[in-house]
Amino acid sequence: MSAVTPITIGEACGVFGVFAPGKEAARLAYFGLFALQHRGQESAGIAASDGNAITVYKDLGLVAQVFDEGKLASLTGDIAIGHTRYSTTGSSNWANSQPTYRDLGDSSIALSHNGNLTNTGALAEHLGDQGATTDSELMTELIANEVASCGSLPKAIAAAAPEFEGAFTLTVMDRNTLVGIRDPRGFRPLCLGRLENEGWVLASESAALDIIGANFVREIAPGEMVVINDDGVASLFPFEAADPRMCVFEFVYFARPDSRLYGEEIHSARLRMGELLADQAHVAADIVVPVPESGIPGAQGYAARSGVPYVDGLVKNRYVGRTFIDPSQSMRDRGVRMKLNAMPGILGGKRIVLVDDSIVRGSTTKQLVQMIRDAGATEIHLRILSPPYRWPCYYGMDTGDRSTLLAAGMEVHEIAEFLGVDSLAYLELDALLEATGAPADGFCTACLSGDYPTGVPTTGDKYLLERS
Ligand code: AMP
Repeated sequence: MSAVTPITIGEACGVFGVFAPGKEAARLAYFGLFALQHRGQESAGIAASDGNAITVYKDLGLVAQVFDEGKLASLTGDIAIGHTRYSTTGSSNWANSQPTYRDLGDSSIALSHNGNLTNTGALAEHLGDQGATTDSELMTELIANEVASCGSLPKAIAAAAPEFEGAFTLTVMDRNTLVGIRDPRGFRPLCLGRLENEGWVLASESAALDIIGANFVREIAPGEMVVINDDGVASLFPFEAADPRMCVFEFVYFARPDSRLYGEEIHSARLRMGELLADQAHVAADIVVPVPESGIPGAQGYAARSGVPYVDGLVKNRYVGRTFIDPSQSMRDRGVRMKLNAMPGILGGKRIVLVDDSIVRGSTTKQLVQMIRDAGATEIHLRILSPPYRWPCYYGMDTGDRSTLLAAGMEVHEIAEFLGVDSLAYLELDALLEATGAPADGFCTACLSGDYPTGVPTTGDKYLLERS
């Protein structure tokens, strides 16, 4: 039997980085991660450098559960990176939390990753067994291997990163340097911010700049690497150019409504999705009800365009995380009940347009529909702000293989029947792309269209390289 360590393919996550001379970088990272909590609720971590050494603290749990004053105080220094991890299936253990760290003496490095590599197997084979348990660990190893020969972190990343395929937005640091990088297609976002007086910030989303009082400077371009040190910010392009393909689901679901991507405010884009859905699939109804929170802006847009009044008929318990955070189905089922409750006084006797951003597995939606029926609704017309989710994502949205995707094996009328709704309509892909306000050809739509912009792993198995 081979002794190769099992490898879990990485997940969509939040990444952060800060270079802030004279400031407590870890504290800034803490608040940055707080604003990126929605991108990952399984684990949180921060690595900080005081110029002599890098200290890392990470653990399973939400940012506020993982860190307290004492832990932050131990993370001294004015450079830091941070990570919040999201996994929909697969192992959620301490070893897979980030930032990853490699002790290279004076050249030690730490790394945070958002995305999935599509050539994890080939990279692992090339590397041999060095104990990596995720694709993020593999990247850290491969960069670490280049550090000695290249002489600097930026050069080591520029040497190693062209070997990585798929989705990788990274923040990486050594004792004196902060580096941010987006893969050539820019599947996952990353932006640059400026701290007052002095200092720079890198974050998955602009909302994480706002919370620490940093000004948005610009989005890091697909294929761009920025190097931040005492000399300022340098921009390099170490990859062969490729067409940009940001994940369209960032607009649909992932990103916070107050973030901007491709220069567009996500909230406004979601409003437009609702307006276009009302144009496309109008139905006679008494009220428009959002599935909180992701369905709210779209429901507002639908209501405004259709003239049917918007009403909050479902209450969300704000202290329960997204239900996908638990990998087991039984917990997910219970999660829905913990998360949402229907109000019979509002829904009873009404014809309802129910608006949500997406249906993935269908388990949440089916229970929700039943809950609304139990609350006395007479008709439920489900309107989804994106097209049917039919194809697995290999770029950081770990929604499982095709067998778990409700729409993969069903036509729309069959899905409507399965969910128990009176009618069902999904926003057309062209309309979704129009609603983003960004160039239509700048997106990866693989999960909706099956059109993958890169080669994909030949097996959908999440434990592709697991051997025993
Ligand atoms: P379900 O009916 O079980 O497919 O769940 C649908 C709900 O999952 C919707 O309300 C979405 O907001 C949410 N959702 C969509 N995509 C994801 C994702 N990648 N991870 C977690 N939740 C998601």
